[in-house]
Amino acid sequence: MFELIIRKANLPDGRTGIDIAVENGKIAAIEHQIEASAGTEINATGRLVTPPFIDPHFHMDATLSLGLPRMNISGTLLEGISLWGELRPSLTQEALVERALRYCDLAVSQGLLAIRSHVDTSDPRLITVEALVAVREKVKPYIDLQLVAFPQDGYYRAEGGVESLNRALDMGVDIVGGIPHFERTMDDGRASVEALCRIAADRGLPVDMHCDETDDPMSRHIETLAAQTMRFGLQGRVAGSHLTSMHSMDNYYVSKLIPLMAEAEINVIPNPLINIMLQGRHDTYPKRRGMTRVRELMDAGLNVSFGHDCVMDPWYSMGSGDMLEVGHMAIHVAQMAGIADKKTVFDALTVNSAKTMGLEGYGMMKGCNADFVVLQAADPIEALRLKPTRLWVIRRGKLIAQSKPRIAELFLEGRPTKIDSGRDYVPMTPS
Ligand SMILES: [Zn+2]
Repeated sequence: MFELIIRKANLPDGRTGIDIAVENGKIAAIEHQIEASAGTEINATGRLVTPPFIDPHFHMDATLSLGLPRMNISGTLLEGISLWGELRPSLTQEALVERALRYCDLAVSQGLLAIRSHVDTSDPRLITVEALVAVREKVKPYIDLQLVAFPQDGYYRAEGGVESLNRALDMGVDIVGGIPHFERTMDDGRASVEALCRIAADRGLPVDMHCDETDDPMSRHIETLAAQTMRFGLQGRVAGSHLTSMHSMDNYYVSKLIPLMAEAEINVIPNPLINIMLQGRHDTYPKRRGMTRVRELMDAGLNVSFGHDCVMDPWYSMGSGDMLEVGHMAIHVAQMAGIADKKTVFDALTVNSAKTMGLEGYGMMKGCNADFVVLQAADPIEALRLKPTRLWVIRRGKLIAQSKPRIAELFLEGRPTKIDSGRDYVPMTPS
C-alpha cells in the first residue's frame, strides 16, 4: 500500500505506460503495472509526467511591479534599470513580500517548483534582501528558492555597492552575483569579476553573474569569469547569465572562448524572452537576435538552462510563469526545430536547470523526490508546442495544484463536438 500511485504516465525520456509509486515523499517504484494499491491514485491516461519546471534566472523583487511608477517607454534595458531606480525608494518590505508570494502562487499553478532569483543589493536599506529571505522561508514547503546577491547599479559603480553586497551575503543570500558590463569601464568590470569570484571562494558559495548582457562584441567579461573560475577552483559552481554579447562576437575569438568556458564548467543561462526583447535595440536592419550561441555551447558540452528572467516588471511587460513559453521562444530564437533539438530544449527547462542550481533528488528515478507535473500533452515536444494545462502538480507526493483539462466545445453542423488540442491533433508522422 503506497501513499500515491500515478498510473499510465508518459515520461520525458520516451517511456510510456509507466506507473509511479510514492512513499515518504520519494519515488518508491517506477515501472510498468505496479501491482499494489495506494491511498490516492491518479490516472495520467498517457499524458506526460515530468519532474517540475525550474527557472534558474529570475527577479522576484521586481516581479508584478509593472507600471510602478510608470511604464518603460523606450523598452530598453537601460531605461528599465533607471525605472527600477525610480521605484526603489518607495519599495516597502510588505509590498515586496506580497508580490513575491503572489508570483509563487502563479509558479506553483504552472508546475514551476524551483527558482533562482537575483535580489538587488544596491539600496543600502537592503529591504529587498530582507523581504526575499523571508519569502524563501515561507515558500520552502512548495518551492526551492535560491537567492543571488545582485548589485544592479554596479559593484564598483554604485556608492556603497561593495559593502551592501557583503552585507546581503551575511544576511543569508546563497549566491554571489555581479554585473561587470554595467561597471564604468572594462577594467572595473574585469576587477569586479575577480573580486566577486574571490568572495565566493572565501565564503564557499556559488557565483551567478549577469554577464555581457549587451550587443557590444567587445564585452568579454565571460572570458575573465571563466579564467577566474579556474583560478579559484570554482569549476561547476559558476553561472554566466545572458552572455548576449557572444551573439555579436567574432567567430575566431569565440572558437577560443568556448573551450575555455567548457574547461571552467560554466553553467550558461540564456533568457530567450528577455534577450529577443531587449537586444538589438540600437540596430536598424539587419537586426540582431541577441541570444547567446546556444547550440554551439551545448555542442561543446556546456550545461545550458533557460531562465524566465522577468514577469511584468520594468524590463518586460509580458510573462506568465510558464517555462514552456520560455522554451517555445528558445526554439524560435535559436532555430532549434529538429526533433532532437526540441527534446534538448525541454531538458534545458528541467534537468539542466537542476544541475545549474545543484538541486538534489531531482528526476524520475527510484529514490528521487516525488515532485511531478502531469501535463495535458503526450510528450515534451507536444508540451513545448501547446504550452498545455498543468493537470496535477505534486510536491513530495502531495497534490499542491490542479486544473481542469482545456477542452473546447464546438457547435458546428457535422463537425466534432469537442476538441482536446493535444489528443485530437496529433501529427500524421511522428513528431
Ligand atoms: Zn536578470
